[in-house]
Amino acid sequence: MWEAERKTLLIFREEYLEHEQHPTHPERRERLSYTIDRLEEEGIPHVVEGVEMEGADPADREVVELVHDPDYVELVRRLSEGGGGSLDPDTYVSPGTYEIALLAVGGAVKAVEEVVKGRYETAFALVRPPGHHASVSKGAGFCYFNNVAVAAEYAIKVLGLSSVAILDWDAHHGDGTQDVFYHRDDVLYVSIHQDGRTLYPGTGFPDEVGMGPGEGYTVNVPLPPASGDRAYSEAFDVIVRPVVEEFEPDLILVSAGQDCHFSDPLTALAVTAEGYGKMMEKTVELASETGARGPVAVLEGGYSIELGLPYTNLAVIAALAGIPTTVEEPVDPPEENPEGVRTVRKVARYHARYWEGVRRRSS
Ligand SMILES: [Zn+2]
Repeated sequence: MWEAERKTLLIFREEYLEHEQHPTHPERRERLSYTIDRLEEEGIPHVVEGVEMEGADPADREVVELVHDPDYVELVRRLSEGGGGSLDPDTYVSPGTYEIALLAVGGAVKAVEEVVKGRYETAFALVRPPGHHASVSKGAGFCYFNNVAVAAEYAIKVLGLSSVAILDWDAHHGDGTQDVFYHRDDVLYVSIHQDGRTLYPGTGFPDEVGMGPGEGYTVNVPLPPASGDRAYSEAFDVIVRPVVEEFEPDLILVSAGQDCHFSDPLTALAVTAEGYGKMMEKTVELASETGARGPVAVLEGGYSIELGLPYTNLAVIAALAGIPTTVEEPVDPPEENPEGVRTVRKVARYHARYWEGVRRRSS
């Protein structure tokens, strides 16, 4: 029996596997079922003391409406119960989508609640469908309800926290999450993603910084293809760490998109599973240094079903719980593009105007 360094909650329900748009859609059940198989092979959660796996109830409609327009929630319900319909060309509502999307929000909210109330130190909600492209009144990019945005709003409005930092490392820019909090200074949104000139949704440039009171509280780090682990490590050291230290959040949420892995068929960022583990280790350190609760991770994208998700998710869980798992990947990563690190430094110089710590590190 191993003992975890930190009490960690994994959220999972079989129903998360039932959501399907159509059988060849990349956002399919095996994304999660292969991860669950991999965890079982490692004996997680059974042979690790301090790591538990639990289900979650569907979120109440009022909770979803902390972020989403009631008319939009009603639209998803009606399409789902009426047999189906499209929200965008990539985002089809099937019978049952509404219920499973409520379960996904419920998973993210429960993970936050359990960590904020101190029953667990860290958590990972292994949910489907993902959420970060969903904005207040629009579903898009495989997303219906914004799991992370609702969980952040729940932490503030219901649990009474003053501030939340959302770190979004999905390969795609989380345009939905950015929109929800663009005018706010109590929710920091930091996204590291593949440059919008080369990937959906085509947003997330450094000059998108927030508006009004929210100016400076949106931080976008777009990276060129093949940036690799070194660029991510650099982005943590010169941007994420100093910004989050200065923001001093009550809670750190991670939009854990596992599609930066080098084997992902939709993206080209060349991150390894070990690199993912390091990112989460640094996030755990950051939470403990700033006194923030968490991290609480919520699964977003990731489409490399056999070679990516099972390994990146395992690495992230090992880092959250502090268990010594070495993740050996079945294939070798490609060479890194040195332009990635240079891009991070350029973006840091741009954000130095808002954040003193970034200024110090990038001068
Ligand atoms: Zn993605």
